[in-house]
Amino acid sequence: MRIGVLALQGAFIEHEHMLAQIGVNSFEIRKQDDIGNSFDGLIIPGGESTVQGKLMNELGLLEPIRKMILSGLPVFGTCAGLLLLAKNIENDTHSYIASMDITAVRNAYGRQLGSFHTTACFNGIGDVPMTFIRAPFISSVSGNTEILAEVGGKIVAARQDNQLVTAFHPELNEDVRIHEYFCEMCRNYTVC
Ligand code: GLN
Repeated sequence: MRIGVLALQGAFIEHEHMLAQIGVNSFEIRKQDDIGNSFDGLIIPGGESTVQGKLMNELGLLEPIRKMILSGLPVFGTCAGLLLLAKNIENDTHSYIASMDITAVRNAYGRQLGSFHTTACFNGIGDVPMTFIRAPFISSVSGNTEILAEVGGKIVAARQDNQLVTAFHPELNEDVRIHEYFCEMCRNYTVC
């Protein structure tokens, strides 16, 4: 199994390290050529959604990646990655890949002071550590989107079919279970 990690900006190396820890091969996506060969899943890291969205557009990656996701490629978006996948962002006029039926709020905990760490229940896994850095949250979901975790009454993780998002950064903790959960989604996709 091979997982592509979007490596234009942000915390992509940390995701590669997590995948290596659980014995999964990864490669970096920086340009169109990198998505030429088939792969089993895609991670869109945290960072700055506006920068990643702009670069994806300029590099001609936005449309092909959107098509792959809509055709069923498993994708895991963390933080900025969540914003890139959201169909609506309440406080941003842009939308980017816009493939997932969620509405998100950008910098929802405040710009500077909005970084914190907590532990909360992730549906199907149990209590996991959650690190939030200038994070969004999900204000509403629609379609068949399933809520996977909430913190303080706000939705911080969700899944819709092949799309998984977390407002927090699982790649910044030792706990590999959310990456394992995503790789399980990718394994099922490979089998189908
Ligand atoms: N605040 C960032 C954004 O709007 C997301 C922060 C993060 O990915 N840690 O894109």
